[in-house]
Amino acid sequence: MKFVVIPMALLLLFTADASVIQGEKNTVEMISWEQADKLIPRYSKFTVQDLETGKKFHVQRRAGSRHADVQPLTTKDTKIMKHIYNGKWSWKRRGIIVIVKGKMIAASMHGMPHGAGALNNNFPGHFCIHFYGSKTHRTSSMDLSHKLMIFKAAGELDNYFESAGPYELVDAYFAGLKQQDLKIIHYAALQKPDREKIINQIENVTVLRMPALPAENIGDALTLSVPVELALQLKGIGPEKYIGTITIVRFSPWGPWKVDSKQFLEEVEVLAR
Ligand SMILES: [Zn+2]
Repeated sequence: MKFVVIPMALLLLFTADASVIQGEKNTVEMISWEQADKLIPRYSKFTVQDLETGKKFHVQRRAGSRHADVQPLTTKDTKIMKHIYNGKWSWKRRGIIVIVKGKMIAASMHGMPHGAGALNNNFPGHFCIHFYGSKTHRTSSMDLSHKLMIFKAAGELDNYFESAGPYELVDAYFAGLKQQDLKIIHYAALQKPDREKIINQIENVTVLRMPALPAENIGDALTLSVPVELALQLKGIGPEKYIGTITIVRFSPWGPWKVDSKQFLEEVEVLAR
């Protein structure tokens, strides 16, 4: 028995750090926006840890009523944040952990300075941090990409994809592509996301049309063809329209749906030629 216990303990020791930044259940809490709003009131300062890189920087909340509008605290913090975004500000969402008052909270940020800024930090404006139940400035429901990033930070993507309905799954797959997030694509897709070149070329995806079948028409089906109309933005090509069908499959009527990603990405590769 000892042979098993000792290596396991060692393994835990070595992986402890990595598991935290991957979004570990029980370590990272997913709290509601209402709770987060009280935990980090206006002018409070806290730490943001990027999930993928593990890099940390400090911010101050300045405003925001449906999510937190924050600013990097100093020029050094701005530099770290820009580094996380590979030197280029962007609207892309990233899963983060907000560290405050001894708590680790699952959240999502984007990386585009906009609007007003007040701190002497070389950051032209502010950026937004969303928590579970947060909303953007414009919409009345949660932004899907932010939501998926929050689940990722909380280590809850497996549960999300386990119970996602067919159209919810397809939406989440496109959100993963839009954010170029291999982890989200991996959970949504039947195949491992190995076509990284084309994924990196898809700069934006907007679903223009996706007519849904009523649930009773789906029944026990194990495959489903979902007609979609997409507006794609392809790097080096420009805007392209995709009109076709997405095939989704499941291995039992109770199992999770998965997107045939290989088929779709092959078709996008043709568009990108
Ligand atoms: Zn905002």
